[in-house]
Amino acid sequence: MKKMKTLSDLLVHELKDLYSAEKQLTKALPKVVKAATNEDLKEALEAHLEETEGQIERLDEIFTELEISNGRAPKCKAMEGLIEEGKSIMEEDLDDDTMDACLIAAGQRAEHYEMAAYGTLVAWAKAMGHAEAADLLRETLEEEKAADEKLSSLAEGGINQSAAEAAHP
Ligand code: FE
Ligand code: FE
Ligand code: FE
Ligand code: ZN
Repeated sequence: MKKMKTLSDLLVHELKDLYSAEKQLTKALPKVVKAATNEDLKEALEAHLEETEGQIERLDEIFTELEISNGRAPKCKAMEGLIEEGKSIMEEDLDDDTMDACLIAAGQRAEHYEMAAYGTLVAWAKAMGHAEAADLLRETLEEEKAADEKLSSLAEGGINQSAAEAAHP
């Protein structure tokens, strides 16, 4: 991608980047669900996978709304890297609680990337007068924050403690 000159060009670029990030997540999340042991964690991940599909639909709506062609999508290299790191953890031979704690940690890195990206795009869309796009982006931002908080509550609600006990029996 070259010759981006305005914030409007960057908005389009970043929307497509997020589209790529969400698409990558829909492929990666089922593997994380399988690798997880804790039932509440599995359910939370499955619920967020479904939300992620809705987030992709929201981005499609925004592309229509702003008349953005969906061709030439850049690949989100940041999400690719975060997923790569998560995969290397899944290849380790960890006990169940430790694996769950690590999957949560990897998931929260992804959520925080998304929160940063959507947060910026809400602000940019607002600044450029794209109120409807800003509302759609804000809806997704709220889902990402809730997903992050859910993961924190699972980690702090027992999974981390069980993993810590496995480390120092
Ligand atoms: Fe997302
Ligand atoms: Fe990206
Ligand atoms: Fe995410
Ligand atoms: Zn998310």
